[in-house]
This record gives sequence, structure tokens and C-alpha cells, in this order.
Amino acid sequence: MDLPEVNPPSAAESEPKEPVGHAFRSLKELVEYVSGKALEPSTAEDSGIVAEPLPFPFLAIVGQKEMKLALLLSLINPAVGGVLLIGPRGTAKTTAVRSLLDLLPQVERSLCFYGCLPEDIEAGGIDAVCPDCARKYAEGRPLTMPDRVRLVELPLNATLEDVIGGIDEQAAAHERRRIRRGILAQADRNLLYIDEVNLLNDDIVDAILDAAAQGSYTVRRGPVSGSYRSRFVLVGSMNPEEGRLRPQIMDRFGLRVIVRGLEDQAERLEAYRRVHAYLTNPRQMVRQYAAEGALVQQEIESARLRLSQTSIPDKLAKTAISLVQKMGIDSLRAEITWFEAARAHAAADGRAEVSAEDLKAVAPMALRLRRSEFMQSYFANQQNEEEELRGLLNHWSQRKPRQNAKKT
Ligand SMILES: [Zn+2]
Repeated sequence: MDLPEVNPPSAAESEPKEPVGHAFRSLKELVEYVSGKALEPSTAEDSGIVAEPLPFPFLAIVGQKEMKLALLLSLINPAVGGVLLIGPRGTAKTTAVRSLLDLLPQVERSLCFYGCLPEDIEAGGIDAVCPDCARKYAEGRPLTMPDRVRLVELPLNATLEDVIGGIDEQAAAHERRRIRRGILAQADRNLLYIDEVNLLNDDIVDAILDAAAQGSYTVRRGPVSGSYRSRFVLVGSMNPEEGRLRPQIMDRFGLRVIVRGLEDQAERLEAYRRVHAYLTNPRQMVRQYAAEGALVQQEIESARLRLSQTSIPDKLAKTAISLVQKMGIDSLRAEITWFEAARAHAAADGRAEVSAEDLKAVAPMALRLRRSEFMQSYFANQQNEEEELRGLLNHWSQRKPRQNAKKT
């Protein structure tokens, strides 16, 4: 696959200055409009699931190579641990995530509203699924069917109960039915997108990150409990102007991309033209990129299949780890993400062995924003204290015999 080349981002103007249309005052507004801000779906029954029939095509997004690369790698290998997009508003973060719809691979999905899976029966017996699915299973009928990975968006006003689920007071007696599935269960085998993740309540973020890390979670309400699978690719976005992200949350996002506005005037103009074309005739725009999109989707699927055969040689891994240590990064997640992203990069290129070039291509997004200034100064202070203590103890142990001598 032809992955976008990554150049380290440099400081750039993030806000467009010239008005570019009559209906929209700026490119930023256009992009926000295209990104669906004005068309937010209502979150009644299936909270979170986005039904956007004609998203802006991923391949039509101009520039932003590192953002595109990070998103593609996370589709190929969910073990990269998600993607955090950091940048000002109007830099096509949400547009890019929604545009992934066309590239998403196929997975096996439960046919049941309660999300029952054959694995549930294998793990917990026939009572682990709802009565309908138990009957189906006994009759040898399938509980799942192949389906596209979906995009699930977390509404900003979601409560903890929306996210993990809660008791359904009206439901029938079967345990499985007593617990209403939350957004996390809906996100299983899907892509979960959290816009403005830095504005979300801590308890909700913690629940999501725990579920993402474990691949499943359990809801307990008194005597009733339900376990759900939650294997999803987590993509978050944040505008640092609107508040910071707790370091422990930042650490749990695998890839971090700094998304800046397009620098090149020609690129900006091209971006405007494409957004304008999309707004004028979305159907035509989508058709124009459909064949190429289908090709990329197939390549993602074959890269996913190749991934299990792709490995990183020990010698290369050791030199990479020494680089992580030289950078003063303590978190083990740094090299986990780095190596998993490099494996995806190699698999996308049809290779079974990770090369130094793969590691180089994904290093900035895996390793940036991992060094903790607080921890560094904490350890330095601690070191000073240790030395001071050692000095005092030496001094004290040398004086000790004289003190004894005085007493006698
Ligand atoms: Zn069921």
C-alpha cells in the first residue's frame, strides 16, 4: 500500500484569513459544516451510532499526511492503542475520522440487540446469552453475520450510564435483558470516536479507557450483572486551547498526531475546491473517489490478514528500546505502540519483517508527548534527596564513636 509520507509538522497558521464564499465566512466554517457539526444526529435509541450516508471521502482530504497515516495504521492494527488528534478547530480532524467509513473492513457482528455472541456461550454457558439466541444456537443457526466496522461517536453530554449501560426496569426477567447495553458495548468491533475528549468527565474517560484496554467490561447493579465485549479502535480529538488532558489519559492513547492547518497556499486552495465540490454535489464527489476507496479498503483488509505474520527482529527492537530510554520515557506503552504501529506499517507494505524505515516512519506519532517533565524533575529531586541523605548518614556514622566516647 502507498502510505502517506510523514513530515514532522512545523508551526503554521491554523486559521484561514480570507473569506472564501458567500454562505460560509471561512474555510473553517465550511470544513466544520462538512464535518457534520451542523447535522449532528439525534441520539435517541442507538446513542452514538452515526448514520452518515455520504461522508467526505478520506482520499479527498488534502495534506494532513500524518493524521491519515495514523488512522490507517489503527485500522490495520487495533493494538496500536488508538489515536489522539491534537489541534485547533477547523483542521479536518472530525472530517477525517468520519471519512474512514468507506475504508472500514468487515467483521463478524451479533444479530441480536443484546449483542449475544457464540463466544459468550463458549465462555459462560447457554445462560450467558438471551433466550432467543440460546434457541438459535441450539438449532445451529448463526448468531452473527459479516458486517462493516461502524463509526460510533460518543455524544458530549453522555452520562456514565449511557456509556456503560444500566438496569432496564421494564425488561423481562432474563439477566441478559435486565441490563441495557451502553455505548461501549455498541462500540465492540467498531471505531469509537470521542470529539473534545479533554472536556469529558474523568469517570467516563476512565470507564472507556479501561474497557478499551481490557477488551471487555462488566456492569453490576445490585444482584444483576452483565459482561460485554468492548474491542474497539479509540480515536479522540482535542483542541488544547480548550483545556488540557490528564497525563494518565494522554499516556493511554497510542498514537498522537499534532494536526495543524495547511501551510501551502496551493494546498489550501485545493482543499477549498474539494470542500466546495462536495457541498455542491456530494454524490458526485463520493462517486469520484469510490473506486480508489474500495481499493484502499481491500488493502487494509489484506494488511490486517498479513499482520499476524509480521514481526520485528530482536536486534532492531533492542536499539529502538535504547532510543526510548535515551529520550527519558518511562511508560512501556511507548514501545508497545511504536512496535505495533511499525508492524502495521510493514504489513501495509506487504512485508513480514519490520525494518528500521518502518520504525522511523511511525516514531514521532508513537513517541511524542510521552516525556513527563514532572516525573523528570521529581526523579531529579529524589536523586538529590538520596545523595543528601547518604552524605548525612556517612557523616553521622563517622561521628558516632566520638559521641559514645563522650558518654563513658
Ligand atoms: Zn441474544
